[in-house]
Amino acid sequence: MTATRIDGKAFAEKVREEVAVGVKALKASHGVTPGLAVVLVGEDPASQVYVRNKVRQTEACGMQSFHHVLDTTTSRDSLLSIIESLNADPEVHGILVQLPLPDHLDSRDVIEAIDPAKDVDGFHTSNVGELWTGGEPFIPCTPIGCLRLLKSVEPNIAGKNAVVIGRSNIVGRPMAALLLNESATVTIAHSKTKDLPAVCRQADILVAAVGRPQMVKADWIKPGAVVLDVGINRIETEDGKGKLVGDVDFDDASTVASAITPVPGGPGPMTIACLLANTLEAAKRSVS
Ligand code: NAD
Repeated sequence: MTATRIDGKAFAEKVREEVAVGVKALKASHGVTPGLAVVLVGEDPASQVYVRNKVRQTEACGMQSFHHVLDTTTSRDSLLSIIESLNADPEVHGILVQLPLPDHLDSRDVIEAIDPAKDVDGFHTSNVGELWTGGEPFIPCTPIGCLRLLKSVEPNIAGKNAVVIGRSNIVGRPMAALLLNESATVTIAHSKTKDLPAVCRQADILVAAVGRPQMVKADWIKPGAVVLDVGINRIETEDGKGKLVGDVDFDDASTVASAITPVPGGPGPMTIACLLANTLEAAKRSVS
């Protein structure tokens, strides 16, 4: 079997186009331009790249972008007072604090300071609770992006066995909640799971969100399964340039799976597209 390659880049482009149309419509109907504020503390190079991409794509779809770059030594009080002012700013509909934060800042504490109605990352406990109890939360962007990619190849999720490897608050747990909400039978596997390959072989839908390069091999995958690879890992190459790979050995897994996301070009591009969609949704809710 040669798996269908699920093109996250093309899908993300479609989502961004839909968002741009929605932004125009909201401006026309209510005179409101959705605004996203991104707060970056420190100089982590990967975070700087993510933030630059977020700002560029926010502006490209017609939204306002507010960009706060703070020194690594920024105190908790200063950060919380910036969040407070963003909470109160009517031009800001979405607030994102780029993680990870420097060690002296507690990310939970900071996330809890964001108004849940502006928490477009979906990390506030109020949104997490809504997700697990069937409310209408802002859903974390990477898992909702994965779900949209999954539905493009597998519309019938109900009753399927889904295995999510990874239990982080950002990816694994919300991914499991989304699959459960779609009536899949969900297993969350993690670093202490016994015989992980055997657990994975039960999966009709396998999501890998671990951070271990090419850990998942073909013989971990049930023939015909759909595989979503969230991992982003840089590995060394002979030419010294290095390259990005996922948590799944793509070429190997493609011989067994029915459909699979590549890295790069899978869930990654969908993450920012879904952030923009959440920001538009927050702006719509603010006028309804
Ligand atoms: P994390 O480090 O918070 O969580 C990793 C999880 O993997 C943990 O729950 C841990 O229990 C589990 N784990 C670790 N080693 C394991 C092993 N040997 N076997 C089974 N489980 C194991 O990471 P995260 O923030 O959830 O991110 C996971 C990966 O996804 C990373 O590569 C990250 O870069 C990537 N990521 C991608 C996007 C995107 O936009 N595509 C977004 C967020 C994270």
